[in-house]
Amino acid sequence: MNPSDCIVIGAGFSGLQCARQLHDAGLRVTVLEARDRIGGRTRVTELAGRTVDIGGQWIGAAHSELQTLARSAGVQELPQFTDGARLLHLDHGGRDRLKRYRGLIPNANPLALLELQRAIQTLTKQQKALDLHAPWETERASEWDHQTLDSWMRRHLRTRTGREIFDIAVRSVMTAEPGMLSFLGFLFYCASNENFEVLTSVESGAQAATVDGGMVQLAEHLARPLTAAELIHLEAPVAEIRRSDPSSGLVVTTADGRAFQAPKVVCALPPALQDRIRFDPPLAANRAQLANRMPMGSVIKTVVAYETPFWRHNGLSGEAVSHSLPFNTVFDATPPSGEFGALVGFIDGAPARRWSSATPEARREAVLTSLTRYFGEQARNPLDHVEHDWITDPWARGCYVGLFTPGVLTELGPALRAPCGDIHWAGTETASEFCGYIEGAIRSGQRAAGEVAAALA
Ligand SMILES: Cc1cc2nc3c(=O)[nH]c(=O)nc-3n(C[C@H](O)[C@H](O)[C@H](O)COP(=O)(O)OP(=O)(O)OC[C@H]3O[C@@H](n4cnc5c(N)ncnc54)[C@H](O)[C@@H]3O)c2cc1C
Repeated sequence: MNPSDCIVIGAGFSGLQCARQLHDAGLRVTVLEARDRIGGRTRVTELAGRTVDIGGQWIGAAHSELQTLARSAGVQELPQFTDGARLLHLDHGGRDRLKRYRGLIPNANPLALLELQRAIQTLTKQQKALDLHAPWETERASEWDHQTLDSWMRRHLRTRTGREIFDIAVRSVMTAEPGMLSFLGFLFYCASNENFEVLTSVESGAQAATVDGGMVQLAEHLARPLTAAELIHLEAPVAEIRRSDPSSGLVVTTADGRAFQAPKVVCALPPALQDRIRFDPPLAANRAQLANRMPMGSVIKTVVAYETPFWRHNGLSGEAVSHSLPFNTVFDATPPSGEFGALVGFIDGAPARRWSSATPEARREAVLTSLTRYFGEQARNPLDHVEHDWITDPWARGCYVGLFTPGVLTELGPALRAPCGDIHWAGTETASEFCGYIEGAIRSGQRAAGEVAAALA
């Protein structure tokens, strides 16, 4: 057994931040990671000979910790390309329409626009009532938590177009249908990330910039002293955390039988993955139930390369959304070198689950058919194409984030961050600020490291 002061389970941004902070403070840490790589829900792959992100990608305008990390890593931040018109595709009973627009809200029918604006204003007003650190204590918490976002939407949006546009936005932000989300949970998610407009915006919002060469470089930079000291164990899925004798601390055992011992453990993973670990004694009921009451969202991410960014020459920014096409959210991902054009996008929510069981060839065809509908026949013949199905990824079980289903925040919310004895919790799902994002993961790692350091002092 290797004695440590703290074992961190998970080498995503939350676990790496926590371990790095403890290591810098002079504590002995061990990081156990199930995969053969670090970075968790961020990951890179090769497209037409270049490294591209196939997981978490954008740095938001207000993601200050991530921006600091990017500066310290010396990577180049690339503002998201936005020049030109955006596209909205709606399909009303076979009446297929493609609209060009600029700004946040598309030019749909005036009644739909008016009620959309009012609904967004109402959301922004209602989120002001929330305490980000304890949304379950809001005066109307129980009422809001026991209704779905879908029932709220049906009350506030009467036009079909209004509902479809709102639905598109929710699906692209949450990778889930409004019917499975708690209204309180969604309100918290908006507030945690400033507001709904910031979540759906590019320039001054959550999609402001990307990292040349991929987000994983920042995870590697964060991990560097830990890697150099050989403190990160890859392919080390934790199978059990046991406390047999209070004086000997916790014993953490991996699936292949390696055992590690420490007085403190930080689980830096989404609640949906905690039940792959056997806890002995079992976790408190509220924490244990988070595992099956916070399912992950559903997303398949794809990046497609073309000879040129031909859509730019047609006055388009490359941004497109649809209510009915499978590839329902798309952005320009052309590298700064301009050596080829690229589009990145997502199959989100219920369509992602359907397309997850199709063959990769059928998915590729569906993506190219969607892109052809948005951008014309030139989109039919790409140079290269890469995808990752995050739903079937065994160490993600879906993405982007664990979802607040109805009743979770008011019934189990305090268990998200409360330590279970010497077991502490990190991960973006536990973040008060920037929940769901890399920024939230980093901040949750900082909080967990603070808890552990204070307890061991
Ligand atoms: C397609 C996609 C697009 C996204 N886009 C963005 C974006 O543009 N901007 C943004 O900020 N965020 C984005 N996100 C979300 C962002 O990637 C996550 O919020 C963030 O990476 C979560 O970090 P984390 O440390 O909380 O969790 P994770 O990254 O999930 O880390 C948890 C780690 O724990 C490991 N693990 C799990 N169980 C065990 C076990 N039993 N034993 C050992 N290890 C275990 C996992 O393998 C994983 O490495 C996106 C995510 C996806 C998938």
